[in-house]
Amino acid sequence: MITLTDISKLYQNGAVEVTAIKQISLNIKKGEFVSIMGPSGSGKSTLMNIIGCLDTQDSGSYELDGIQIESLQEKELDRVRNQKIGFIFQSFNLLPKQTILRNVELPMIYGLYSRKERVERAQLLLDKVGLGDRIKNRPNELSGGQRQRVAIARALAMNPSILLADEPTGNLDTASAADIMHLFSQLNEEGTTVILVTHDPQIADYGTRIVLFGDGEIRSDVRKTHDRNVGETSGLTREFWHRT
Ligand code: ATP
Ligand code: MG
Repeated sequence: MITLTDISKLYQNGAVEVTAIKQISLNIKKGEFVSIMGPSGSGKSTLMNIIGCLDTQDSGSYELDGIQIESLQEKELDRVRNQKIGFIFQSFNLLPKQTILRNVELPMIYGLYSRKERVERAQLLLDKVGLGDRIKNRPNELSGGQRQRVAIARALAMNPSILLADEPTGNLDTASAADIMHLFSQLNEEGTTVILVTHDPQIADYGTRIVLFGDGEIRSDVRKTHDRNVGETSGLTREFWHRT
């Protein structure tokens, strides 16, 4: 459960102060699939970074699963982030000098996995995103869409309870984007909370709730009542995701 109360974030751009988000309050229950839309610069990534514990608000409070996030020390914050959150960034953030296998394996170093388990799971995740035969490549040897798929595999490495995805399909063709969205829908059906930022209404439609941003504020927040069309499964099984 995510509870944001009166969250504001300011940035100082030279002499100009930008209020990226203004007193936002938002509750997201476990297992929801929320799509966030809104114009460029309206504060979507800023909010995602706060929810993902990568940045802190200037005012307001953030409670995650009963934990008051702003009162945590750096180390505790790292632990919460690593245990609970998978983050897919707008700009991938892969480590350029490491192979893609290593990029996916790295988050698991903080978990209770042996090296062999880490490599096996990284391989499995890369298979699932269709890059199982590219494990020795470095990120700059892949296309933008392929890098995005590596970032998705990496975000899933620790089996997060919350998946945050900032424009995850921006660089993908329609078919690859649909594959990724089916994967998200399936993870969501298995209990993962998914929060997604997108400019694409068709992608947003995979969500069960659509939050519209404008100028640092929430303009509308609509829950869908009808069932979403999940489509065929991508071959991921419940056993796989809950195995560890
Ligand atoms: P986009 O759709 O283009 O990704 P966004 O909705 O994600 O936009 P944000 O990245 O949250 O927008 O930015 C909100 C505002 O905060 C913008 O005016 C942006 O320039 C500003 N901003 C964001 N990050 C910083 C930063 N690190 N330093 C200064 N200003 C920032
Ligand atoms: Mg953004």
